[in-house]
Amino acid sequence: MPRALITGITGQDGLYLSELLLSKGYEVYGLIRGQNNPKAELVAREVPDVRVLTGDLTDLSSLLRALRVAQPDEVYNLGAVSFVAYSWEQAALTTEVTATGVLNVLEAIRLHAGDDLSRVRFYQASSSEMFGKVQEVPQRESTLLWPRSPYGVAKVYGHYMTINYRESYGLHASSGILFNHESPRRGPEFVTRKVSLAVAAIKLGRQDKLVMGNLDARRDWGFAGDYVDAMWRMLQQPEGGDFVVSTGETHSIRELLETAFDVAGIADWEKYVEQDPRFFRPAEVDLLIGDATRAREVLGWKPSVDFPGLVRMMVESDLKRLTDAVR
Ligand code: GDP
Repeated sequence: MPRALITGITGQDGLYLSELLLSKGYEVYGLIRGQNNPKAELVAREVPDVRVLTGDLTDLSSLLRALRVAQPDEVYNLGAVSFVAYSWEQAALTTEVTATGVLNVLEAIRLHAGDDLSRVRFYQASSSEMFGKVQEVPQRESTLLWPRSPYGVAKVYGHYMTINYRESYGLHASSGILFNHESPRRGPEFVTRKVSLAVAAIKLGRQDKLVMGNLDARRDWGFAGDYVDAMWRMLQQPEGGDFVVSTGETHSIRELLETAFDVAGIADWEKYVEQDPRFFRPAEVDLLIGDATRAREVLGWKPSVDFPGLVRMMVESDLKRLTDAVR
């Protein structure tokens, strides 16, 4: 039975990846941070077969201990301070977790595996946010990186460190440059989920306004369930590599709003939406749109859910969640 260790198990991707690996017969270990982490309950409820270990990306010896217990064939580093807007407020913490944390996991693997580094394969969750002020449209693996937020800068560090462990030590290490990927499990601070939750609440008469930031921003949004499959495929290759994972389509926040309100049967969406500078970013990334040709050709990967399908899934899920909550 193959064994996997996932950091960031309590997040959206950690949960989807756990489900995928469990369905493939893996023994899955998940790293959880801190004492009495309230999200431990979420993991126990959603993926009860995952074995939870305590550890922290900023604590090398806790990572070594987790590796000793899990004895993983595959390590997926999904843990990070992951909200871009927040990374401006806590830039140093973001660096410690999202950047140095990657080095800690790589070092822990190297120390743990000793002479036989081929025992462990490594996946690093890199991000389209690394492209920032984009130098090429669409973006691919070779596009020059130009991050525009502390989060983006930290992810660039992790990306290059992953490549360096591959080149310097021969570690089977892959960097997945994932564009935005969403789902009903997305945190409510991200724009898609903020919108799906608000539209459901407005539909049910429990909220009357939705306060937003920049409506002209555009993103290449895919479904998280599809994207974790790409992660797994990367680690099944004969060698590690870098892969852009994206849909190749972009949509604006305005289109997101229009589509989400439409799913709920509300036509005049502008009536409900206001803008507030509070939700604007100090700097925006430019036109993020990914070219996933390499993932398609080498990994045989392609997305199964399109933009309208994704928005529908999220709004319907929140409508059901809010309706069930009052029953
Ligand atoms: P990101 O791509 O990781 O930063 O994902 P987000 O979902 O947080 O943001 C996507 C885009 O939506 C960014 O360009 C934001 O400026 C824009 N946006 C507009 N209004 C909002 C809002 O109210 N909340 C968030 N989170 N983003 C917003």
